[in-house]
Amino acid sequence: MPQTLFEKIIARTIPAKIVHEDDKYLVIQDITPQAPVHLLIVTKKVIPSLNALEPADSALVGGMFLLAKKLMAEQGHTDYRTVFNCGPTAGQTVPHLHLHLLAGRNFNWPPG
Ligand code: 5GP
Repeated sequence: MPQTLFEKIIARTIPAKIVHEDDKYLVIQDITPQAPVHLLIVTKKVIPSLNALEPADSALVGGMFLLAKKLMAEQGHTDYRTVFNCGPTAGQTVPHLHLHLLAGRNFNWPPG
C-alpha cells in the first residue's frame, strides 16, 4: 500500500507544523484551517477510517479525545469542536484516522 499523506508527515518526508507527538499520536496544524485553531490528531497506527476500527482500537480512539481535552486546556479553550469525517461523502479526504480539533470561533449546528 502507498503511504498515506499522514504517514509521510509522521516520517518527516512532508513538512507540517507539529504541535504534539508521542508514541501513539502526531498532532499537526491543518494546512487549510477552518477556525483560528484547527488541529489534526493523527494516529500513528494506520487505520483507514472509523469503518475499519476494531474493538482492540478502543483505547487508541478514546485517547484521541483525552488528548484533545489536554491540548484545549493547555491553550485555554473550554469550548471546541471535534470531528471525524468518515468516507468521501462525509468529507474524508485522507484515508488515515484523524480527529479534527477546532476552536476559537462560534460553530453552527447543523454543520454544513
Ligand atoms: P479530512 O478531509 O480527511 O477529514 O481531513 C484531512 C485534512 O487534512 C483536511 O482538513 C486538510 O486541510 C488537511 N491536509 C491536507 N493536506 C495537508 C498537508 O499537506 N498538511 C497538513 N498539515 N494538512 C493537510
